[in-house]
Amino acid sequence: MTDPESPDAEVIARAGEILRRGGLVAFPTETVYGLGGDALSPDASRKIYAAKGRPSDNPLIVHIADMDALWPIAAEVPEAAKRLAAAYWPGPLTMVFPKTSLVPPETSGGLPTVAVRMPSHPVAAALIRAAGGYIAAPSANASGRPSPTRAEHVREDMDGRINMILDGGPVEIGLESTIVDFTEPVPMILRPGFINLRMLREILGEVRTDPGILSANAGSVRPKAPGMRYRHYAPKAPLLIVEGTANAVTAEINRRAGEDISRGLAVGIIAAAETAGTYRNGLVREIGSRQTEEEIARHLFDVLRGFDEAGVDRIYSEAFDTPKLGMAIMNRLLRAAGHQVVKL
Ligand code: AMP
Ligand code: MG
Repeated sequence: MTDPESPDAEVIARAGEILRRGGLVAFPTETVYGLGGDALSPDASRKIYAAKGRPSDNPLIVHIADMDALWPIAAEVPEAAKRLAAAYWPGPLTMVFPKTSLVPPETSGGLPTVAVRMPSHPVAAALIRAAGGYIAAPSANASGRPSPTRAEHVREDMDGRINMILDGGPVEIGLESTIVDFTEPVPMILRPGFINLRMLREILGEVRTDPGILSANAGSVRPKAPGMRYRHYAPKAPLLIVEGTANAVTAEINRRAGEDISRGLAVGIIAAAETAGTYRNGLVREIGSRQTEEEIARHLFDVLRGFDEAGVDRIYSEAFDTPKLGMAIMNRLLRAAGHQVVKL
């Protein structure tokens, strides 16, 4: 394991060398583990898509470690974006700009724009500098699977497909970065994350949310970020979200789980710490307390992967519309559920 606070210089140099030669290295960031390749190399980007099994029209986020690295790849950076960078970079925020020709179309998925993030994780920052300044890095999961929040998850999906995995222990946030598009007349959230609407409004004033990401009806309103159009995060078993008052939700999940189990099915239940004790049967996974929503965000993908390993046939989840991270958590959970929700 690499010390997440002060990474071993020799290990980082070796990983940087792999990236400079066009290889792939998975590394920890504060959001999730990333699968890195040289962002300016068409070949490295192609390798990333191949390793993940990712559709090649789904662009990669370019990671930088210093503000000076932004100008060569972004053709136009509005004042508002500079203010946002001053407030939240380095951090769990990605911004979309018109791209320059330095960014190959392989990296931008053929789009004329580029998504850029400056991660705060010391291992990520050191690796970006060692690699020459630009790392293209999607989440280091196989396409469609829950994003990796520990090095073991990366090994599960990527073992033998990439050159190196830097293990920095479990990540801090556990949900991918907030994406804000600055090529729109009004800045638009393409993917909700830890930097929430209120935090963005504080700096930017007016902010819109891409209507496509809230829609249950994929296809009717197309999300602008290509990646948000794909089925994602899905555990192997069907997942149903049950929404309502705490008492009604636990009663309904207990009833449904009881029925499934009597038919011989194995059932998984995702519950908050406050209600976990009220479920009578099934494999109950406590995701965290509603009082500390950061815990819920951090554990979500790990819990989803855990059910694959346990081999359950059905999963029920409470809804987590918490005040700060609710939008980001529910965006991932709804997509994992294919938008299957029962409202009581
Ligand atoms: P991941 O790489 O798994 O973190 O996902 C990256 C997300 O950013 C995907 O949903 C992409 O579609 C989205 N994205 C990357 N580049 C752009 C771009 N230039 N414009 C809009 N969305 C983008
Ligand atoms: Mg991803």
